[in-house]
Amino acid sequence: MLRELRGCRIKKLLAGLSRVVRHGSTINPTSWLRRSTPMAIATVNPATGETIKEFTPDDSAVVEQKLAEAQAAFQALKKTTFAQRAEWMRAAADLLDADAEELGRIITIEMGKPIAQSVAEVHKSAKGARYYAENAARFLADEPLDDPSLVNASQAYARYQPLGVILAVMPWNYPLWQVLRFAAPALMAGNTGVLKHASNVPQSALYLDTLFERAGFPTGAFHTLLIGSGAVDAVIRDPRIKAVTLTGSEPAGRSVASIAAREIKKSVLELGGSDPFIVLPSADLEKAATTGVAARTINNGQSCIAGKRFIVHQDVYDEFAGLFAAKIKALTVGDPLDASVQVGPIATAGGLNDLQELVDDAVAKGAQVLAGGHALDRPGYFFEPTILAGLTDDMRLVMEEAFGPVASLYPAKDDDDAIRIANQTTFGLSSSVWTSDPAEEAYFVENLDAGAVFVNGMTVSYPELPFGGIKASGFGRELAAAGIKEFVNLKTVWRG
Ligand code: NAP
Repeated sequence: MLRELRGCRIKKLLAGLSRVVRHGSTINPTSWLRRSTPMAIATVNPATGETIKEFTPDDSAVVEQKLAEAQAAFQALKKTTFAQRAEWMRAAADLLDADAEELGRIITIEMGKPIAQSVAEVHKSAKGARYYAENAARFLADEPLDDPSLVNASQAYARYQPLGVILAVMPWNYPLWQVLRFAAPALMAGNTGVLKHASNVPQSALYLDTLFERAGFPTGAFHTLLIGSGAVDAVIRDPRIKAVTLTGSEPAGRSVASIAAREIKKSVLELGGSDPFIVLPSADLEKAATTGVAARTINNGQSCIAGKRFIVHQDVYDEFAGLFAAKIKALTVGDPLDASVQVGPIATAGGLNDLQELVDDAVAKGAQVLAGGHALDRPGYFFEPTILAGLTDDMRLVMEEAFGPVASLYPAKDDDDAIRIANQTTFGLSSSVWTSDPAEEAYFVENLDAGAVFVNGMTVSYPELPFGGIKASGFGRELAAAGIKEFVNLKTVWRG
């Protein structure tokens, strides 16, 4: 009964916020093929290809009203205490936990991840909100200089103050968690936020539009702008927007950061990755293979921090490849609403097409298929979990990100060769290395060009750990104390 009531509440919220058109037709996959084509704002179930709901984008008057509300809310929010904001943030976390089952279903229908992973994402988002509720005051406390006489002062300190309205441009792959890990620190710092979410997750976006107001934050403290990517430029240029963060692809990052730079506004970019997963002879191969399968296929293989390139020392290459292939082939692929399914569909027809092109290019140039290799012959955007070996530098897969369950396997002659292969892409998000030799561990931690190194484990984001990349994976950090310090004014105070 309670679940039904909650479900009704979410449905009412969504219905009230946007005009909904029901179609029930199968979309023409070619209409979604290229990212350069503006996407309709719509829920298309990737497990069936069926358009569930279409939404009318916000017109300029609605965008103006939301920006005005965000600006007014900032004037109110910056005067509130950490304790007050923490109380509201904890209430937002409670709402997320209470709505997790219903919201998880929305996530799965919008972007296709297995239902248990969707529900877990909502609870993780609640955890992230509580983390910043508990820690924001400590992270942003004044930082006194130990010896003010060094600067001829009786007192000197750094004070952190909010900037104003921050724009977040977010992707569909973790439609709740990606937003919460921006929104929780931003609001706890006293900023307000406007969200431009990916066009294929409008129901998740509209849930977030009201979450913080429902939790007690002032009206306008957090708003969703239902706009396409073509409308983002104008929002960045709006004088009320003080900074922008984007999580998404490299082209989107280049565009957003260059506009922000021209406007002299700060940007944070969390972009793609093609993370190495390095297996060395001293590793527990069975554990590495099991974890490697999870690292490559979690979220249907569509995670920026997924292990994508498996670099294996030649002494254990054959054994690891055998274990890894057997485990990949044993995965259950299918309807993500079925609790027994481990891998669901690719989120969009365009994403499926991109993945097939990468695999076809490698196979045409001589790559060996150890598992999978094709889209499934069924409605929806399913791709078989795939392993390719025998990769050569002329193949796109060597340098480009495979955003789906496609692993590439590389033999390494020795540690230096493993580092060379790991560092040869333009990306530098995270990395994973498997070894039980402390000297080898130290060598890889020191020499991997990445924003993180996970030893004997797969990369996972935690509220407590800084997250972000180098090179074409972006700049700036989310999460932990580093994340909340991205969008604040560090004001130096000196008293004579
Ligand atoms: P995408 O096309 O870049 O979309 C991400 C967001 O950017 C969406 O809201 C999109 O809006 C918007 N966007 C696209 N082009 C834009 C432009 N020129 N100007 C302004 N906004 C623009 O990314 P995707 O391919 O859907 O998502 C997957 C990518 O995100 C992968 O590369 C993945 O590795 C990366 N990612 C990175 C992280 C991280 O933390 N580093 C986390 C998750 C995902 P529309 O939907 O309306 O196009």
